[in-house]
Amino acid sequence: MQTNIHYPSFKRVEGSVIVQLRRIVGEENVLIHKELREKYGQDKTEGLVFMPEIVVLPCETQQVSRILKIGTKYRIPITVRGAGTGLSGGALPVCGGLLMSMERFDKILNIDKENFQVTVEPAVITEFLQNTLKDNGLYYPPDPASKGISSIGGNVSTNAGGLRAVKYGVVRDYVLNLEIVLPNGEIIWTGANTLKNSTGYNLTHLVVGSEGTLAVVTKIVLKLIPHPTHAMVLLVPFEDAAKACAAVAAIFQAGITPSVLEFMERDALEYTMDYLGERIMDIPESVKAHLLIEVDGFDPMTLQNDCEKIAEVLERFDAGEILFADDEAAKNVLWKLRRNIGRAIKSSIYKELDTVVPRARLPELHQATKAIAAKIGVKVLCFGHAGDGNLHINFVRGDVDDDTWNLILPKSIRELFNLVKSLGGTLSGEHGIGWIQKPYMNIMFNETSLNLLRGIKSVFDPKGILNPLKIIP
Ligand SMILES: Cc1cc2nc3c(=O)[nH]c(=O)nc-3n(C[C@H](O)[C@H](O)[C@H](O)COP(=O)(O)OP(=O)(O)OC[C@H]3O[C@@H](n4cnc5c(N)ncnc54)[C@H](O)[C@@H]3O)c2cc1C
Repeated sequence: MQTNIHYPSFKRVEGSVIVQLRRIVGEENVLIHKELREKYGQDKTEGLVFMPEIVVLPCETQQVSRILKIGTKYRIPITVRGAGTGLSGGALPVCGGLLMSMERFDKILNIDKENFQVTVEPAVITEFLQNTLKDNGLYYPPDPASKGISSIGGNVSTNAGGLRAVKYGVVRDYVLNLEIVLPNGEIIWTGANTLKNSTGYNLTHLVVGSEGTLAVVTKIVLKLIPHPTHAMVLLVPFEDAAKACAAVAAIFQAGITPSVLEFMERDALEYTMDYLGERIMDIPESVKAHLLIEVDGFDPMTLQNDCEKIAEVLERFDAGEILFADDEAAKNVLWKLRRNIGRAIKSSIYKELDTVVPRARLPELHQATKAIAAKIGVKVLCFGHAGDGNLHINFVRGDVDDDTWNLILPKSIRELFNLVKSLGGTLSGEHGIGWIQKPYMNIMFNETSLNLLRGIKSVFDPKGILNPLKIIP
């Protein structure tokens, strides 16, 4: 467990504050015993534990407002938590203090079929929302691989991406309006429930992706689209991983926009099958990587033509025999494999980067990653949303010695991030900066830009109580 970072200006959560919190949310929703607080001290970020002093579970916006007023008055650090699946330590209470878990905000409030909109509370699980909307013929596309366990509020706060961002965009593209509570307890809506809005600065887009550092999100209005009726999925093997990377941009250049375009190295799939304990497929020794591609829409003939065009493109990159999955059972097997890669890698000690580059630069990023890992003798597994140029790079510890892991690897990560920048990319495509990527922010932002970020933070949160020490170095 890490030691919480104590700033003299922050106060501890003590007697009279606990009494006030119990009055607001009820005694059973204020967790003080260590065993009850324990699960809130970690998220899915590898190896980090920061214990909160107290956990509070509100279920109404007014309660959130009153809690924040207490935080501001007594200068108690407050960290907001969704489902705790974040991979950058964003929901960890690094300064201790009060952890506000949103788990009781779990209702879909209104499905507006006429306007293709839904209003939802932040703790609704992404997949549950998608399934409920699908039953109504509606589609909310953002589809993180963690959709079965992550919350919409967390997705909004990290600007999550996922498998279908390549065609449909990321969470920010679907958020129309937010009810938020500012650190001083004021409640506001950030925008309007309209598809267009050129009315001043876009507060909605500013709060999306702000990782709980500016305000607490209590209601979310999302844009929806009609649900596609057909989809075809292709699994494509390559003997040369570099060619698989290079094929990605060529597919778009041929005029096709797949709804999913994922890159998976051979070892990532082997790890996953071991983790699942299921030999889902036998991968010939010569195969080094796969592309997983989906095309979707409303007309099967168009999809068939798209698949044929994709196959033509892939031939130029020496792809192996393509596996077409057109029935649900076959598709589900492939989705299971892909969606479990992250979980499988998390069963080892690893460090993950969420790099993103313009998609045509993907081959260079992949090649440089391999070279850097080989130089320091660390194993690296790559997979991710190749269609977005978003590569998840996982350094796996194995039997690497302490010095290499703790001292040399961070330097190599910096070298890699510098390269990402030189390729026109950036540090995080979808997981956010949170706590663990913060030391590298000065690669992307100079002091002028960092000061703008600091200025925005201090306008929303002048006392700095909300999710302190995140994002901005
Ligand atoms: C196996 C696996 C696969 C994943 N795949 C993807 C993927 O494909 N794409 C992707 O984008 N991410 C992925 N993730 C990362 C993670 O699921 C996302 O970052 C997700 O959006 C986090 O949601 P959460 O509800 O768990 O939020 P948390 O982890 O609880 O919180 C994340 C951040 O949001 C803030 N926050 C949460 N709720 C609120 C609120 N109501 N108001 C203000 N701030 C709030 C927190 O303070 C924190 O900074 C994956 C994670 C795992 C474990």
